[in-house]
Amino acid sequence: MTDSLFNTIIFLLILKTCEILNRIRQIIRSVKTPKIGLHELDNEGLSIMGSTGGDKVYHGLYNEGATCYLNSVLQVLFMTKVFREALECNSEEKYIVDFKLKRLFTTLMENETYTKDILLTLGIENVHEQCDAAEYFEKILSMVNPKASKLFKGELRHSTTCSNGHITSNEIGPFWTLPLSMADPLDSSNTYCVNDGFCDFFKSSTVSGENQMYCDDCEMKADATIECRMEVYPDILTLLLKRFEFDYYTMTYVKINRSVEVPHTLQTEEHDYELYAIVDHFGTLRGGHYTAKIKSFEDHNWYVFRDSYVKKLCFQPNSKRTERSNSAYLLVYKKSLVKNEHTTNQIPVNPGDEVAGEPVEIKTSEDDDPDDAGLEEHGHASVSVPEDSQWDLWERVDVEAHIYLCITPT
Ligand SMILES: [Zn+2]
Repeated sequence: MTDSLFNTIIFLLILKTCEILNRIRQIIRSVKTPKIGLHELDNEGLSIMGSTGGDKVYHGLYNEGATCYLNSVLQVLFMTKVFREALECNSEEKYIVDFKLKRLFTTLMENETYTKDILLTLGIENVHEQCDAAEYFEKILSMVNPKASKLFKGELRHSTTCSNGHITSNEIGPFWTLPLSMADPLDSSNTYCVNDGFCDFFKSSTVSGENQMYCDDCEMKADATIECRMEVYPDILTLLLKRFEFDYYTMTYVKINRSVEVPHTLQTEEHDYELYAIVDHFGTLRGGHYTAKIKSFEDHNWYVFRDSYVKKLCFQPNSKRTERSNSAYLLVYKKSLVKNEHTTNQIPVNPGDEVAGEPVEIKTSEDDDPDDAGLEEHGHASVSVPEDSQWDLWERVDVEAHIYLCITPT
């Protein structure tokens, strides 16, 4: 072999080795770092850091094509303690989704995992087609056992009353998500306030003139008042911000990219609700991406879930403020207190549970008089109880900027 041939072979070998090393480096990088793109920062543009010691470690779901819409709602359901418990209670075989979800959740506690099984059960054949997260959220809830689905199911009463006081229609219908219209014909650039939108949803309206309704009792057309009331308040209330609307000018569906103000506490006539999950939609109608931000019921920190990528939010949302978002699509709230003073509803409290966004500590002290333990100022959010007793917290009462927790023995 001549020297020059030998040198050439050595040169080619080195070149090949470099190529292989480069490829290995690329593979390692692609495994370690998530793909950074438009959707890799959360909607407030906050940077995200990894979990630190003591935080819970949550796992992601692989994207099977364009299945981020499903992944985001599956993570919301996984992170809903009462939902997981309701699945565990069921042993009836006819609720196939229960078993698929239980299996998925069991794996998800330990590892990131695939969703092929659930996709098949939900009848999703084309995994590359972008679908609506809300649609599949509702589909899952309609397929799980009644105890699990009831958690999310509310009821609305729609009634119409003529100007002479005759009730011309009165119907009750269930809902999984409460759709709030975001279209503002006057100004689409202003911020949409979820609290106002929620109140507007229940505002009565009057029809008159050529829109008058026929009343059987009056035997003629008459002005009428249309009302909508929440008849059954679900334990978990999901608001759907209608970002996808049909535009009659272009005769196509368009996405409304309005900024929204999301309250951490939603006050309704009978209950207060605490925000614990947001499903975000980024991008356009067809080329969008879904992610979820969820507050853990275990360590009370907010995490971001983007398919297989899960991290604790570096800047935790402040529950005393509202969230500003350009991407919020589904807002998931859990019931936090009953407003009616004379209610018999009892909310059992265990250490680590949350009441109105505050983690409850149960301090055990034999010196404390259990009668005094009934009232605690907000901010401490702790209740002192004798060591061996079981107590229930049954009410939180707001009085002149002070919040009292009332407890009673079980
Ligand atoms: Zn009438």
